[in-house]
Amino acid sequence: MKDILNDLKEIVGCRVSASLAERCCYASDASLVEGLPDFVVRPENTQAVSRLLRFCSEHKIPVVPRGAGTGLAGGASPLQGGIVLDMSGMNRIMEIDIENLQVMVEPGVVQEKLNQALKPYGFFFPPDPGSSAMCTIGGMIAYNSSGMRCVKYGTVRNYVLDLEVVLADGRVIHTGSKVLKSSAGYDLTRLFVGSEGTLGVITRAGLKIQSLPESRKLVLASFEDAETAGQAVIKIFSAGITPSACEILDKTTLQVLKRCDSNLALPNDGDVILFEVDGTKNSTAEAALKIAEICGPLSKSVRVASSQPEMDAIWAARRLVGAAISRLDPARTRIYVGEDVGVPIKQIPALIKRVSQITAKLDLPAMKYGHIGDGNLHVALFIDVMNEDQWERLRLAADRIHRAAMELGGTVSSEHGIGLARAQYMPEQVGEEALQVMRSIKRALDPLGILNPGKLGLEMK
Ligand SMILES: Cc1cc2nc3c(=O)[nH]c(=O)nc-3n(C[C@H](O)[C@H](O)[C@H](O)COP(=O)(O)OP(=O)(O)OC[C@H]3O[C@@H](n4cnc5c(N)ncnc54)[C@H](O)[C@@H]3O)c2cc1C
Repeated sequence: MKDILNDLKEIVGCRVSASLAERCCYASDASLVEGLPDFVVRPENTQAVSRLLRFCSEHKIPVVPRGAGTGLAGGASPLQGGIVLDMSGMNRIMEIDIENLQVMVEPGVVQEKLNQALKPYGFFFPPDPGSSAMCTIGGMIAYNSSGMRCVKYGTVRNYVLDLEVVLADGRVIHTGSKVLKSSAGYDLTRLFVGSEGTLGVITRAGLKIQSLPESRKLVLASFEDAETAGQAVIKIFSAGITPSACEILDKTTLQVLKRCDSNLALPNDGDVILFEVDGTKNSTAEAALKIAEICGPLSKSVRVASSQPEMDAIWAARRLVGAAISRLDPARTRIYVGEDVGVPIKQIPALIKRVSQITAKLDLPAMKYGHIGDGNLHVALFIDVMNEDQWERLRLAADRIHRAAMELGGTVSSEHGIGLARAQYMPEQVGEEALQVMRSIKRALDPLGILNPGKLGLEMK
């Protein structure tokens, strides 16, 4: 080990650590999946990553790329030891090219920082996970992350034009260019988006950006139950309106938010949908009115938020939901399993019903919230972690929720990724044949299997 440490220091020429304290900090992401790395390496440039991967290929050492470690599927957890490659230090915004509507960034740039840099120009990078104040562009690309505004603006996949990627053997490639469209061969950019660090390490990304809308409006509608709320969403889309955000907060989620901030102007009861529309002043006013009209007969109450500060407070609270959940019951802990299912929007009411039945039958408290406009439901399950019976029921609930989503033609993960947490569902989710194709791609790019081993169900028999 000492020899490897010295070799690494010499070869990589950047910070390498083998201290137990530091290794423990990199044992997992925000999921339950854990594994202790042997070394932590913090590269400062592409050449260092390239030299490192060449060395690791020669010595068959596993390498797990990591952004901010906010992932919820175990993607950045080093299951087989080896090296955690902390990319957060490569965090420069290399170019803001407004005329071409794009930016060039290093992977460690934090989403919110990018948007702060773009705001003075009147632009933004739309994919906006709830973790946008922490998560990195590299992690977002590797998971094809999304968030509240993806219902209108699309996921990360829709914004990546070009990637610089270091392959397992140290070769450096570019997958695209600055042009907005190209018919030149396989779409390698899309291959690396969502590849969860299993095919290469992203060291630079060219991204499209959007101009900030002139105006936003927020409609708050409260419904007797979440299924009726789901029906309202279908009606809004069928009327030809695409909200810029469409978020559901069920009754339990509302209670939690109100406990965090009792001044929040949220409805007092029911399951709530927040519909945001953006565009020009006239178009947003018209769309907000139309949404209120459509929701009227289905809802208990509906209103348009009165001011920008009110809208800001409500969105800030919405962003807090994931973290604020501990307020529901301090004796219980939220466990991130079964938390990211998605279905075609017509199936939203059915999914909500199935999830409610599953959690009620297993007597597990659950909060339902999420990006309902693109069929993505986050289910927060809580248990007393000292209680084995509750663990058992939690695992059952998660499995049934995943299977319900697949039965409804949906996905076990809309945005949080597969990692290890959902690897067991890959054969059923994508099909055996398609999984074999993915394994062939993995073997072609990483024949020794050093990049993020054990993830995405690629090594399961
Ligand atoms: C409170 C909270 C709210 C969240 N809300 C959302 C949400 O609304 N939407 C959503 O999509 N996600 C959400 N997430 C999950 C998570 O924040 C996202 O998946 C995020 O994009 C992960 O970014 P990261 O930098 O933390 O990546 P990490 O967790 O460090 O890594 C994620 C994956 O990317 C790989 N990776 C990282 N960097 C690179 C690189 N340079 N090259 C190749 N592979 C790399 C890792 O190996 C791993 O597989 C939330 C998480 C939390 C804790």
